[in-house]
Amino acid sequence: MLTEARILIVDDLPENLLALDALIRQDGIVVHQAQSADAALTQLLQHEFALAILDVQMPGMNGFELAELMRGTERTRHIPIVFVSAAGHERDYAFHGYESGAVDFLHKPLDPHAVRSKVTVFVDLWRQRRAVRTQVDELEDARRRQQLLVDELQATQHELERAVRMRDEFMSMVSHEMRTPLNTLFLEAQVRKMHLKRNNLGAFAPEPLAAMVERDERQIQAMIRLIDDMLDVTRLQRGTLSITPKRFDMAQLLRGIVEGFCHQAAAAECPLALEAPQSLQVELDEFRIEQVVANLLTNAFRYGPAKPVTVFLQELQGGVEIAVQDQGRGIAMQDQQRIFEQFERAVDNKVSAGLGLGLFIGRQIVEAHGGSISLSSTPGEGSTFRVWLPRIAPAAVTQD
Ligand code: ADP
Repeated sequence: MLTEARILIVDDLPENLLALDALIRQDGIVVHQAQSADAALTQLLQHEFALAILDVQMPGMNGFELAELMRGTERTRHIPIVFVSAAGHERDYAFHGYESGAVDFLHKPLDPHAVRSKVTVFVDLWRQRRAVRTQVDELEDARRRQQLLVDELQATQHELERAVRMRDEFMSMVSHEMRTPLNTLFLEAQVRKMHLKRNNLGAFAPEPLAAMVERDERQIQAMIRLIDDMLDVTRLQRGTLSITPKRFDMAQLLRGIVEGFCHQAAAAECPLALEAPQSLQVELDEFRIEQVVANLLTNAFRYGPAKPVTVFLQELQGGVEIAVQDQGRGIAMQDQQRIFEQFERAVDNKVSAGLGLGLFIGRQIVEAHGGSISLSSTPGEGSTFRVWLPRIAPAAVTQD
């Protein structure tokens, strides 16, 4: 199907317009008439024209003046113009400066054949130009889409490279973390072997033996925690980490945790305090909540040694809020979201132990309870992690 081409004819005499209209009207061409340059300009700004046929002699603005105006406007600059003038007069009117558009002349009285063939030439030209423009637009569109794909691919590639890098770092951290307690145990074993060899049984008297067993237990616990974390991450990836809510007293649980952490607090020289009501009944997965709080406390001692650490418990917005506050190194704004992701650790703490899994697992556990975890921190002043949980967790939720 032909693209409809609009042609504007401008003449001050209605009978001339009628005659010209009748001459050029055909399928695929829409003729617009204007009886003055002003009316023509209005139309020119409203539609896209393939050709303008202008009567040169018009009262007010003549055809050439109108052409000058058209040339001065971006929208109309490229419209080809055919001037209609009295025979032999066209050379008297030199029309300068209309370089970009085609210009032609028709003479009165109009020769129907000449009029039609000129119109056909200009309309064909316009259609070809349009087709080329459409192709260029399509090409540009395809190029843009291709660029988008390339950008996406690059982003994916970067993401993959980052994931591989993190996996590698993770593997080396796991090895390091496993080696540390194993090395300690191995050293202990060597020392004991030496005592046995020298028959130094005093080293195994009840008191040193109890301390020895406790040291072993700590190293073994550290390894168990590490392996548990890795198992939890695998469960999270498979969507099989489930929570089993049951009724318990959150205040009592926190008292127990804080008590259990008193050795670690002493080792880190952190005064540890709990501010909690006497009792606060909830229905959550006690074991998992303990895991979350234990991780927050371990971090508080690790990243805020020799500074007070406080655990708060209060009822909040129909649920409970547990806050763990330290006065340690704090966390830079740009790291505050990131550290909740898998394997993510704030950049400058390569020296300290940790796999960057604790907060990730913690957040998943809290969210599986229908709760949320948030952080406010000022670098150099400390951090407060707030865990909000509903009083009753949705039953048997499987995290996916
Ligand atoms: P890990 O401590 O094993 O590296 P986490 O997921 O528990 O892993 O913590 C991720 C990172 O968040 C830590 O490496 C540390 O950079 C930062 N972080 C966590 N807790 C604190 C805190 N209380 N103070 C300062 N930085 C913290």
